[in-house]
Amino acid sequence: MTSLVRETALHSRKFIQPWVLMQQYDVLIIGSGLAGLTLALKVGQDRKVCLISKRGINDGSSNWAQGGIAAVLTDDDSTEAHIQDTLIAGAGLCDAAVTRLVAEHGRETVEWLIAEGVPFTREEDNSGFHLTREGGHSHRRIIHAADATGHAVQKTLAEKVQQHPNITVLEEHIAVDLITAGKVNMEGSACLGAYVLNNLTGKVSTIAAQQTVLATGGAGKVYLYTTNLTFPRVTVWPWPGVLAAALPIWSSSSFTPPACTIPRLSLSSSPRRCAVKVACSSCLMADAL
Ligand SMILES: Cc1cc2nc3c(=O)[nH]c(=O)nc-3n(C[C@H](O)[C@H](O)[C@H](O)COP(=O)(O)OP(=O)(O)OC[C@H]3O[C@@H](n4cnc5c(N)ncnc54)[C@H](O)[C@@H]3O)c2cc1C
Repeated sequence: MTSLVRETALHSRKFIQPWVLMQQYDVLIIGSGLAGLTLALKVGQDRKVCLISKRGINDGSSNWAQGGIAAVLTDDDSTEAHIQDTLIAGAGLCDAAVTRLVAEHGRETVEWLIAEGVPFTREEDNSGFHLTREGGHSHRRIIHAADATGHAVQKTLAEKVQQHPNITVLEEHIAVDLITAGKVNMEGSACLGAYVLNNLTGKVSTIAAQQTVLATGGAGKVYLYTTNLTFPRVTVWPWPGVLAAALPIWSSSSFTPPACTIPRLSLSSSPRRCAVKVACSSCLMADAL
C-alpha cells in the first residue's frame, strides 16, 4: 500500500518531487468522528481506506454527544410523524428531501449500530431498548446509551476500525490542503488526495486516493459562540472548492451550536467545483462513492 514514490512540499504547487514516501489508498477519509468511522467500516469491506484524525481517534464532537439518536423504532410511531416533527422543529430551515432521507434510514442505521455492538440502554425488564422523548418529538423515539451515547457509539466503532485489516488509521495527522488536478498541472478538477501534516514530526506527506471524503465535523466555529469543543472543529473551510462541496450537507447537519449568535465567516467567497465528497453524521452516509 505504501510505495516509494515522490513527495510534495507544503504550499508547493509541485506534486512530484523525488524519493519521498507517498501513501496510496482507494479512499481517504478525513475525520474520525461518527461520520468518518461509519463510512470507513462500510467502504472498508472491499477497499483500502486511510482514515486520518487531527488529534486522537476519539477526539471529536461525537465522543461528547449525550442525548441519543432519534429514529422510528416502535409500531405506534411512523416515519411521517418523525418527518413532520422535524420540519416543525426546524422552523422552515430543514431541507425536506434530506429530512425524509434521514428519517427513512433511521431504523436501519440504528439496527446497524446495534449489530456493531453499541451498548444502548435496555428497558429494566430487558424487553427492548429504552426510548426517551425529547424536544419537538411527538413519540418516544430517542435511543440512547445512558447519558453518554456519543461516547458509546464512538468507542464501539473506533475499536472496530482500529482492528479492520483494510483500514489504516493515522492519528495526529491534519489535512492541510487537498490535492486537486489543477495543482499538479493535470486536466479537470478531480481531487487526488490531500497533503497531511504529522503533528508529532512536523512533516507533511502526500496521501493519494481515488476518492477523498471530508468527515471533518460541524461548523460550530463559524459562529462566535458554540458549545462545540475547539479542537475538533472543522479546519478545511478555507480550502478552494470545499465550501461548494460541503455547504449542501453542512446546511442539513447537526452541529449543536445552541449558543450561536453572530455569523463569523463570510460565505461569499467564490468556490470552484471540486470532486471532494462530504460525509454527514446526521445520515451516516456520504454521496454514493
Ligand atoms: C456537547 C454536545 C452534545 C451533543 N449531543 C448530541 C445528541 O444528543 N444527539 C445528536 O444526534 N447529536 C449531538 N451532538 C452533535 C453531534 O455530536 C455531532 O453532530 C456529531 O458528533 C458530528 O460527527 P462528525 O463525525 O461529523 O464530526 P466530529 O465527531 O466532530 O469529528 C470530526 C473529526 O474531523 C477531524 N478533523 C477536522 N478537521 C480535520 C483536518 N483538517 N484534518 C484531519 N482531521 C480533521 C477531527 O479531529 C474529528 O476527528 C452533540 C454535540 C455536542 C458538542
